[in-house]
Amino acid sequence: MGDGGPGLVVLPALQDRLPAVEGDPRVHRACLDRRSGAHVHRGHRRRAVVVHRADPADGGPGVRASGHAPQRSSIPAPAAHPRFGGVRMTDGIVIAGGGLAAQRAAETLRRAGYADGLRMVCAEPHPPYDRPPLSKEVLTSERRGDSIRFRADGWYVENEVDLLLGVRAAVLWPDERVLHLSDGSALRYDRLLIATGARPRELPTLAGYRNVSTLSSLNDALALRDVLASTARLVIIGAGFVGLEVAASARQLGAEVTMIESAPAPLSNVLGPVGGWFTDLHRFHGVHVITSTTVTAVEGDDRFRLLKLASGQEIRADHVLVGVGVSPDLDWLAGSALPTSGVPVDAEGRSQAEAIFAAGDAALTFDPQLARHVAGSHWERAARQGTRAARAMLGLATGEPPLESFWSDQYGIRINYLGHAPAADAYAVDGDMDATDFQVTYTREGRPVAVLLVGRPRELPQARKLMTNGGSLELLARN
Ligand SMILES: Cc1cc2nc3c(=O)[nH]c(=O)nc-3n(C[C@H](O)[C@H](O)[C@H](O)COP(=O)(O)OP(=O)(O)OC[C@H]3O[C@@H](n4cnc5c(N)ncnc54)[C@H](O)[C@@H]3O)c2cc1C
Repeated sequence: MGDGGPGLVVLPALQDRLPAVEGDPRVHRACLDRRSGAHVHRGHRRRAVVVHRADPADGGPGVRASGHAPQRSSIPAPAAHPRFGGVRMTDGIVIAGGGLAAQRAAETLRRAGYADGLRMVCAEPHPPYDRPPLSKEVLTSERRGDSIRFRADGWYVENEVDLLLGVRAAVLWPDERVLHLSDGSALRYDRLLIATGARPRELPTLAGYRNVSTLSSLNDALALRDVLASTARLVIIGAGFVGLEVAASARQLGAEVTMIESAPAPLSNVLGPVGGWFTDLHRFHGVHVITSTTVTAVEGDDRFRLLKLASGQEIRADHVLVGVGVSPDLDWLAGSALPTSGVPVDAEGRSQAEAIFAAGDAALTFDPQLARHVAGSHWERAARQGTRAARAMLGLATGEPPLESFWSDQYGIRINYLGHAPAADAYAVDGDMDATDFQVTYTREGRPVAVLLVGRPRELPQARKLMTNGGSLELLARN
């Protein structure tokens, strides 16, 4: 991003007060009782807002999470924190992660009047930004990183949110409420939100080749944009939503695109036979779609030149994008007793560990429709969970949990999806699939469990109503 860069920027704190927190007597007391020494209302103190920027290289300067906990004697003394100094009992609410769920949580906390310390630990060198444009406009236009930021620097200053950039959450000690960071410092938290998102899965067969990449971060997207500017032949492995979107963007840029999918059709694990429509769409736009096969061998040196498929086909290409799904980015929880495969939380984002919440792609949320914990990597889910976890931290009502939903843009067509199609026993199509203007309603025992809208974004509120009023919650739970 344009304003990124190494160094430490210390900005003056603002003197204004936020309104009192609604709802949570603990927060009220903590803010107003100056004798306890536990917390000081931020309106009465003067401190600096710190925007810490480390090495601009993705991942920051320090060690990656190793799972080896530092010696317990290295916990910083509460009275003089090494990073922030001053007399503090804790660092307030700490958010591990600097993406969508983290940003929504920070905004919600401040809007609700939470007035104590708030720190976001962000592995990337960039201030929090939105990911959906990475497979779309960032690839197809000269759009700069700054334009996809959630907020400008001023917002973090005004709201006294300390943004620690290029630093990773490295080791968690839940019993001591201490989060160790990759730069060797540590934070004591009142409450912790785990929002470190997910990272792309890799394919061992293709590991180590210089012309193989994944797409998850702004740096990944900028590198892929450079590749597409000079690459004639792109192979995409995996026809999930991100792979499909990159295929559409690459075709728009004139690249020759081959997409390899192990299932019989793109998204068939979610949409069933309707996934075949995506094969037709992409073939219509010139993508060479190969389904029901996998890459079994690779020829090349430090760059691959040839891919051999289980089907016997051989593909020559200049670059491969691997898009075979994501896994929660939680290696840093190793040794903490919290699972590294996704943090199970209730509908409000509470984990089983005291004072620890999780949201977004790192969380396994309790889905009342399915009556079990589920993973997910969708924008709306992460945004709403960040908001809900923040409100739950303050003891505020969170309202009804949202429906699972996703949107995608391919060749200028808006695709919306709501609910859980795999639970369906039938589906009905309304509209014209050839004209990219249709709705698929998935039902179980005659009641709607999911809706797919293609080219009909205006029907979304109606589809939500259908799912909410007519949805088969009990039947899904029994599935
Ligand atoms: C290319 C792309 C396109 C997408 N398009 C769509 C779309 O069209 N529609 C849709 O619904 N969804 C889309 N998504 C999914 C959506 O963007 C994600 O579900 C959402 O961003 C998840 O938010 P999050 O806050 O959980 O994680 P993220 O937004 O991924 O943020 C997590 C952050 O935490 C950081 N982090 C990781 N480990 C650590 C650590 N140890 N310490 C500190 N920080 C750490 C990461 O670097 C990252 O910055 C897309 C995703 C991608 C990658």
